[in-house]
Amino acid sequence: MKGNRRLTGVLMGLTLAAGCAGGGSTGTTQAEPTAPSTSRSSAPGAERTTPSASPASRAALPRPGEVRRIPKSANGLPVISMIPTERKVVFLTIDDGWEQDPGFLKQVRDEGIPITVFAMRDAVEATGSPDAASGGGRYVGAGRWDYFRDLRDAGAPIENHTFSHPNLWTLGYDRQKAEICGMSTLIHKETGRRPVLFRPPFGNHNAATARAARECGIKAIMMWSATVQPGGKIAYQVPDKKLRPGDILLLHFRPNLARDFRILVNKIKRRGYEIGDLRAYLKAGGVPVS
Ligand SMILES: [Zn+2]
Repeated sequence: MKGNRRLTGVLMGLTLAAGCAGGGSTGTTQAEPTAPSTSRSSAPGAERTTPSASPASRAALPRPGEVRRIPKSANGLPVISMIPTERKVVFLTIDDGWEQDPGFLKQVRDEGIPITVFAMRDAVEATGSPDAASGGGRYVGAGRWDYFRDLRDAGAPIENHTFSHPNLWTLGYDRQKAEICGMSTLIHKETGRRPVLFRPPFGNHNAATARAARECGIKAIMMWSATVQPGGKIAYQVPDKKLRPGDILLLHFRPNLARDFRILVNKIKRRGYEIGDLRAYLKAGGVPVS
């Protein structure tokens, strides 16, 4: 791994390696082609009723003067892979939407854990046959948006991760704009709110991306500084393998997300970190998100 740049670094090589879309478990590329439809059981309160006992589960909010100014890139939008703060706070972001684990929704809701969701249409609306090889441990996305409306109701902003997860480096401005604006319109239709953040698939973006995203109402391009693998293991992009203040962690909607998320949250707390409200921190850094 190379090229860590704090704050607004672009992290190109790293993002290719770490990839959104999916691949955590295998290190491969595309979003998990898990199949789809049937078992949605996101009924409120349907799962176990263990009381949440996480003292630090509420979102950390920025203190006055805590967050340094977040600069815009040459293309007019901030490109953000860390939040510029010295406080021991990290941010959790979750991409795609292939798997819809009701236990995860319950954790977020019951414990008030702040997350930001970057939804991708073809994952959220996936259809097809359930993956027989998955062995029953999967909460395969039943397609559609109910799960994301539930996450929204649990306090998670639903942000933009394109329609179809293309490598934007291969698309011109018009097609990029169709991917980004189209997804913003869809999210607005399904959740009642238009996204203000955009996460480019694989982290790949260019000047056309910024221009298109701006025209679609996006206020920042959100990258990340570490990825979370199955088992809650954090894949750092720096050699010292420590969380750093302001880290933005990337997860995916995977099978067993609830279990992995529990491990992750406990790890974060053990290391003395809080989990921050990303939108509040962006706002404090001067990014006009609403
Ligand atoms: Zn992705």
